[in-house]
Parts: sequence; C-alpha cells; structure tokens
Amino acid sequence: MAKVIIIGAGGVGTVVAHKCAQNPEVFTEIVLASRTKSKCDAIAKAIGSDRITTDSVDADSVEQLVELFRRHKPELVINVALPYQDLTIMDACLECGVNYLDTANYEPKDEAHFEYSWQWAYREKFEKAGLTAILGCGFDPGVSGVFTAYAAKHHFSEMKYLDIVDCNAGDHGKAFATNFNPEINIREITQNGRYYQDGKWVTTGPLEIHKPLTYPNIGARESYLLYHEELESLVENFPTIKRARFWMTFGQEYLTHLRVIQNIGMARIDEVDYNGVKIVPLQFLKAVLPNPQDLGENYKGETSIGCRIEGRDKEGKHLTYYIYNNCSHEEAYKETGMQAVSYTTGVPAMIGAMMFLTGKWNMPGVHNVEEFDPDPFMAQLKVQGLPWHEQFNLDLEV
Ligand code: NDP
Repeated sequence: MAKVIIIGAGGVGTVVAHKCAQNPEVFTEIVLASRTKSKCDAIAKAIGSDRITTDSVDADSVEQLVELFRRHKPELVINVALPYQDLTIMDACLECGVNYLDTANYEPKDEAHFEYSWQWAYREKFEKAGLTAILGCGFDPGVSGVFTAYAAKHHFSEMKYLDIVDCNAGDHGKAFATNFNPEINIREITQNGRYYQDGKWVTTGPLEIHKPLTYPNIGARESYLLYHEELESLVENFPTIKRARFWMTFGQEYLTHLRVIQNIGMARIDEVDYNGVKIVPLQFLKAVLPNPQDLGENYKGETSIGCRIEGRDKEGKHLTYYIYNNCSHEEAYKETGMQAVSYTTGVPAMIGAMMFLTGKWNMPGVHNVEEFDPDPFMAQLKVQGLPWHEQFNLDLEV
C-alpha cells in the first residue's frame, strides 16, 4: 500500500497523475494538491479513477504543507510545482517524515540561478531522518542522468565526453509559446551558456555557440549550447568526464520572439511599478502567453532527447555511443491530454516514484538520479511509454 501526494497541477502534474493512476499495483492512493484546487479536480475527473483525491495547498508555506502531509500521511511527495517551492517542500518532508522527489532544482525567485547547492545542503538531514530525496527526475534532468549511468554501467570503462542533446521538432501552430512554464523556461534560456571542460566551467554568451545536429527520424536541426542543471551533478558523479555540454534546438521564429521579448524588457524578473502596482514583467508575460497545457491538441511532430558519449569501452577500445528516446506529441496527447514535453517529464517522475516505492531506489539522503541503479528504471521506460534506442560507433557530430 503506497500513498503519494503530487504537488502541482500543470502540464507535468497532469501526466504524473495519469501515469500513477495507470499503475494501481504501486500507487494505491493518489492525492493531487496544488494552489488552485479546481485544476486538480478537473484532472481527477478526466482520469476518472476513484483512487485520486484532491486538495489545495500553497507550497510556499511550510506550515500549510505540514498540515497537508499530516492530514494525508503520504509515503512520498512528487513535487511538480515550480522550482521555487523545492526547499519549503523538503522542509515539510523532514518535519513529517515524508520522502521526496522533484524534476527541477531549486531557484530563488529573484535570481535566475541554477545550482544544486541549496538542495545538497539537506543531505545530512535526510540521511539522519532515514528519508530519501530524489532530485531532478524528469527527462532532462532525469532520464539524461539515468542514460549516462546506464552507459557507464554497461558500455564504458571511461567516459570522456558527454553531450546531452534535446530536440523538439514539434509544431504547435502558435507564433510563440513555451512548452513548459513560460517563466521558468525563459529564465533558463536567456542565461549565459556554460559547459564543463577539464575541471573548469566555461561561460559563453546566451545561445552564442550553436551548430546543426542530426536527430533520429527528424533530421538536422540548429542546436544551441545552454547551461543545464544535470551537468553539475553528472561531472561530480562521473569524474572521468573531461567535457560535458548540453544542447537544445530552437527555431528561428522562436528566437526572434525571444530577442524581442528581451529587448523590450519583458523578460525582466525584477519588480516594476505599473500604475501603483508592483509587477514582474516576466510573470505578466506568462499571463498573456498561451498556456503550455493547452498546446497539446494541435501539436504535431516529435521530441528527441538523448546522450552522445565518447570514451573507452569495457575492453579499453575507443567507443562512441548515442542513446535516445523519441516521443510523439500526438501520442502523448492521446494518452494524457498533454504534449510530449510534459509527457517526457511526467512519465520519468512517476517511474522514479515507482522505483522508490518498490524499494529499488530507497537510499536515505539527497541524491541525483544517476546515483541509483539505472536498470530497473530503464526497463520501466520501455513499458511506460518512453522506449529508448542505442547506436554504437557512429559520428556523434558534437
Ligand atoms: P506549470 O506552470 O504548468 O504548472 C505548475 C503547477 O504548480 C501549477 O498547477 C501551479 O498552480 C502550481 N504551483 C505554482 N506555485 C505553487 C504554489 N506556491 N503552491 C502550490 N502549487 C503551486 O508547470 P509545468 O507543469 O510545465 O512544470 C512543472 C515543473 O516541471 C517545473 O518545476 C518545471 O521546471 C519542471 N520541468 C522539468 C523538466 C525536466 O525534464 N526535468 C521539463 C519540463 C518541466 P497554479 O495553476 O495555481 O498556478
């Protein structure tokens, strides 16, 4: 018998709720709680399972979270609200003896800054409490780390170069929209780029480095070097890595809109005074952009996310390796009513929760996904809608 609380009823929360409901032998009771309860109710109704109950919580408040956890007594909380709530939810977990899983690292609201230090500072507290916290269990971060751990376990004696490549070749028919929370997405993309090389971090201008990369079943797409949070934990957990980078595709139309948004000050995250009211331009912009949850219906095409790795195989010979998943927006929508970006995040979050609840990923402390055994997770990816493929000794292009 395992009870989970899902916090957050956005695109990702919708997929997590669907997938937990599809696995009743693991998730016997599901509570879906968010700031706006009506959204939770609509999701529960669409799923139609009598094992889902809903509740409301402001996850910025530890007090409210503690009250929620005491009322429901879950074994695990799946945090798919926003990165701003990670620490309050972790605090409440410690207070109530609840295990924790999320898909994005903590960010302070007033500074777009991605690093694990805030959450890694909870390691000892979770360990002492005998509780497990699983960090970054979406697709990237998430499956990208599990793919890397799988490559290290089964194919490489030494991984030297890691490139995580993320392509969304879908078309939602809108002039401009983001695929997940616009505020979080725009904060991420407008930052300086950063990659790891020979023990140091190298900073680039935002989207300064780019090249076409070829994605399976899609073809060549211009791919831009970004900083992405899993690079930080992967180079720590796999110290043979000399260079680690992250690439994401963007269309010209998207980049033009983004440039205008920045140039006119709408990407600002500081408060401005508007007619005597304090507003944050980026939060205001979110209110007028298309809701990522509503993109699914007309979304065509697919995503392709994977890891390209170069190093030496188990016999010491040179090896290049590519492991990836392609996910169709249409198929994801048919199954959950959400597009593939929410789907590829929500499915791994459910699998991570399943790994914990079935005892396979139960390790008190605060851990990134690559610290666990990748095999049972990889097996579930195939079963739960995200099949993966491997290619050996090919031109990695990176
Ligand atoms: P959405 O904006 O669609 O949904 C966020 C949800 O969280 C909303 O239901 C919102 O409630 C709720 N929420 C926000 N603040 C609070 C609060 N204080 N208390 C309670 N609930 C709150 O985001 P997504 O579903 O697109 O993304 C969810 C998470 O997944 C994000 O952290 C994102 O960074 C992460 N992500 C990770 C990826 C990965 O591969 N690892 C990829 C994509 C996303 P309300 O509706 O009332 O605003």
